[in-house]
Amino acid sequence: MQIYSGKSVFGGIAIGKISVYRKDEQQVKRTRIEDADSELARYNQARKDGIEQLQQLYDKALKEVGEANAAIFEIHQMMLEDDDYNESVENIIRTQMVNAEYAVATTGDNFSHIFSSMDDDYMRERAADVKDISERLLAILNGSSGNQIQAGEKVIIVADDLAPSETVQLDKDLVLSFVTVHGSLNSHTAILARTMSIPALIGTSLPLDDTVDGKLGIVDGMNGKIYVDPDEAFLEEMLEKQRQEQEKKQLLQTLKGRENITLDGQKIMLYANIGNIKDLATVLQNDAGGIGLFRSEFIYLERDDYPSEEEQFQIYKTVAETMASKRVIIRTLDIGADKQCDYFEMEKEENPALGYRAIRICLTRPEVFKTQLRALFRASAYGKIAIMYPMITSVREVCRIQEIVEEVKKELLQQGIEFGEPEQGIMIETPAAVLISDELAKHVDFFSIGTNDLTQYTLAIDRQNTKLDEFYDPHHPAVLKMIAMVVESAHREGIWAGICGELGADLELTQEFLSMGVDELSVSPGSILPIRKVVLETNVEEYKKSRK
Ligand code: PEP
Ligand code: MG
Repeated sequence: MQIYSGKSVFGGIAIGKISVYRKDEQQVKRTRIEDADSELARYNQARKDGIEQLQQLYDKALKEVGEANAAIFEIHQMMLEDDDYNESVENIIRTQMVNAEYAVATTGDNFSHIFSSMDDDYMRERAADVKDISERLLAILNGSSGNQIQAGEKVIIVADDLAPSETVQLDKDLVLSFVTVHGSLNSHTAILARTMSIPALIGTSLPLDDTVDGKLGIVDGMNGKIYVDPDEAFLEEMLEKQRQEQEKKQLLQTLKGRENITLDGQKIMLYANIGNIKDLATVLQNDAGGIGLFRSEFIYLERDDYPSEEEQFQIYKTVAETMASKRVIIRTLDIGADKQCDYFEMEKEENPALGYRAIRICLTRPEVFKTQLRALFRASAYGKIAIMYPMITSVREVCRIQEIVEEVKKELLQQGIEFGEPEQGIMIETPAAVLISDELAKHVDFFSIGTNDLTQYTLAIDRQNTKLDEFYDPHHPAVLKMIAMVVESAHREGIWAGICGELGADLELTQEFLSMGVDELSVSPGSILPIRKVVLETNVEEYKKSRK
């Protein structure tokens, strides 16, 4: 007798023949297409068919396991209507001129990767759902009907993993139990399994081969074990034990938002700040209009050596593809000060915040800068990437950046490597940049005000020193005047200005920022909806009058 342990999804004992279920993996090839519109039409037809299939599954589940548990198929239908998912697919088809299968597979992989790397359990479970809907679409695009579990006799289904749609297609009368190698306790599959009263185990490391397939098995959902090929005595014991019970559980859904517009019609862009590709799921979850600050230095900080152009390219491309047509502002590395990276081998400094950091490193180590720029320009062919340069103090720096950028573009062109034309903006983080913002605005596409550093440099307060908290006034009129000045300079030159420092999320200032005409606030994803609420409730003209 072989014994394997897993996590129990549902109690009870099942005894019967084991049937190993092998997925019919969808093979996806990347092929060039000529006509993006007709490929999109193919995709949209597949989506329509998918929604219809899910409706049938919903109806079946409704009869068998009740409304609450059938809801998963409604959620899947909603996922197929999801703008982020569909825009990502569309963007890949259009920008890469590739087949719908490839666009769906890439989007499915990107999204499920993001969800599975999240801290939130609920969101992690959604990775399986994204995979499930993507596989459904691939099956439809490939002209197959999708996986169908065939069980001619009562069996214990053993599989690598089971998607919810596969679980519900099991004929309850013929399936005694299921046991999977992967899967998680709170997946919809597990929930469905519980309500279907099928003893089930997940996370069971058993081989999916002939040592298991066709053998007699006993699944004990009470102690999370499956016994393969049990001896007579044990079988008798388990047969004796075979009288048990059930329970249920339920999940929820997500909400999606509205336009960020005030009562008197002023719009503002609400973007998200991220430090890692893993943050993307919360960005989508919170309905961000884009990414206003991707702190790319974290890619450097997480490693023991310089990230290669290819590594960076893959990361930036994934973000661009995932955000589809939404703007993704990636800040070039802002190493130095509090963000130290050993392999940069920087000398110890007396005043690191006033020292060798950010753009100063990039301009003096052009090989490091160029590697990142190449990755960014290449990735911008896959979405709406914008590049932002930190810690600017002079027009001269901006001109030097532009020279390096031109060199990078020339090299890429000569090498026949595809690249896009990203917008390029700068961070306004120093009083110097504020005071010459009228000049700087002539050279860039946008401004993003880094109030964390701007406050530190304006008030001469080390942002790292908690002892100075009582002197640190984030609402200091000097800082607010500077923000207003930067916005004015930007608008005079016809460019936009946003805030990506922490102050942008300060709800006490949202109306003030609106009255200054701030075009964008980039904040941590969780702050987006609270700010949206204030925006929706604000009448900017009345607010201005009330302040006089
Ligand atoms: C800032 O200075 O406000 C900013 C957004 O950059 P960081 O906090 O990464 O220095
Ligand atoms: Mg900063």
